[in-house]
Amino acid sequence: MAKRTKVVKIIADDYIGQELTVAGWVRSFRQNRFIALNDGSTIKTLQIVIDFENEDPEVIKLITVGAAVKISGKIVASQGRGQTVELIASEIKVLGVSDAEQGPGQYPLQPKKHSLEYLREIAHLRFRTNTFGAIFRIRHHVAFAIHEFFHNKGFLYMHSPIITGSDAEGAGEMFKVTNFDIDDTPKGEDGKTDFSQDFFGKATNLTVSGQLEAELAALAFSEVYTFGPTFRAENSHTSRHLAEFWMIEPEVAFADLNDNMDLAEEMLKYVIKSVLDRCGDDLDFLENRLIDEEKVKPTNERSPMPLKEKLQFCVDTDFERVTYTRAIDILKNCKPNKKGKFQFKIEEWGADLQSEHERFLVEKHFKKPVILTDYPKDIKAFYMRMNEDGNTVGAMDILFPGIGEIVGGSQREERLDVLLARMKEMDIHEDEMSWFLDTRRFGTCPHAGFGLGFERLILFVTGMANIRDVIPFPRFPGSAEF
Ligand code: ATP
Ligand code: MN
Repeated sequence: MAKRTKVVKIIADDYIGQELTVAGWVRSFRQNRFIALNDGSTIKTLQIVIDFENEDPEVIKLITVGAAVKISGKIVASQGRGQTVELIASEIKVLGVSDAEQGPGQYPLQPKKHSLEYLREIAHLRFRTNTFGAIFRIRHHVAFAIHEFFHNKGFLYMHSPIITGSDAEGAGEMFKVTNFDIDDTPKGEDGKTDFSQDFFGKATNLTVSGQLEAELAALAFSEVYTFGPTFRAENSHTSRHLAEFWMIEPEVAFADLNDNMDLAEEMLKYVIKSVLDRCGDDLDFLENRLIDEEKVKPTNERSPMPLKEKLQFCVDTDFERVTYTRAIDILKNCKPNKKGKFQFKIEEWGADLQSEHERFLVEKHFKKPVILTDYPKDIKAFYMRMNEDGNTVGAMDILFPGIGEIVGGSQREERLDVLLARMKEMDIHEDEMSWFLDTRRFGTCPHAGFGLGFERLILFVTGMANIRDVIPFPRFPGSAEF
């Protein structure tokens, strides 16, 4: 195949007068003369002008929306409005036909507005729309910026296992991994399935977090992060939960809760800024899409800022750092709580915060991202460091507008005796965790880390409302298509 030039380069650089080859998919074909060609390298299309008089009519017939084409010709300054350059076609090859074979209108992505729900049903094709093109190009840039951020700081990228033999974190919410014939599993004397005969010689699950393994590595490399898939078999039908999602989990030795908050805030700002710097066209498109969508909403439900302004605001503003105890005071006394507007009323200290409370704090009270710290020990995991008061732990959750919790982290309990006591209280068996406890036995040190939900961050930077629209093929209760 002749070397092709990507549309993004043709639009950005000066190719006027040059003969080039492009390849992509037909977005529209007007007057048998103008093709809008998209190759996914940018949201923009390249206009291709066909010399209709001299072109083979049989070829023209095959050029329909969705067809894959390869076209050579000369780049010229555009005569029309809406684009600066166009390509005058001299050679056209239809690589893959679309409606020309299937019949008019059969291609599921005709050039008109489709609902996000419909596009979710055809997730195998939705990459080819402007909206999903923009979302997944941004998703790429966010992932890249995260690696860049940590690499530049000297963090080591660590791969934590996907199949885990530990069930210390939320046993009920894990997907089992087994090689058994599930209709006929070998039974032990107690009549229960005997996992010692299974593939790994024990019961195993898909991981819910790479943190515990990241801690092991942090106590050797000082600064590490994981970035991988995690799985939760929780039956949540919210717009913020997936059964399979990606998590970024830095873990830092010789760091306390403040260092942890600083790192998380710096990272989020770095990533958001890099999206502003690198994804301008896609952000413009998504911003306008949101403005259109919000026109039909009542004014009080519209977001207070356009997308890019919101992102810039987040980069420029110090996140508010507030203790859980203070947040509960604010929530107890706020209007929606007193007027019974929350689904879950905040009655007293110790209550677990729901997304409605988190969003109130961020969107209505502080009007900026919030880091909540020092939660009651009873609503947090066993490994979080016990504070002096004996009631709270050194936890920190970062709350973002429109989403609620985006990061959950803590300083870890590095003191063996305190950790053991906590595990006993929570009925976590010591013998199953001996590998983890070894870090506290040999060369323990203060350390801290957090987990950032990758898709929640993508929700924020794209302004999308449903987490199912920011991962290529969402897995959620009742659905594992494609
Ligand atoms: P939530 O209260 O929102 O369910 P969590 O407390 O269960 O979150 P953690 O276990 O602390 O979350 O996980 C760390 C991060 O992973 C969260 O801050 C969030 O960004 C993300 N996350 C957690 N569960 C999911 C999920 N089911 N789908 C997508 N992202 C998730
Ligand atoms: Mn959860």
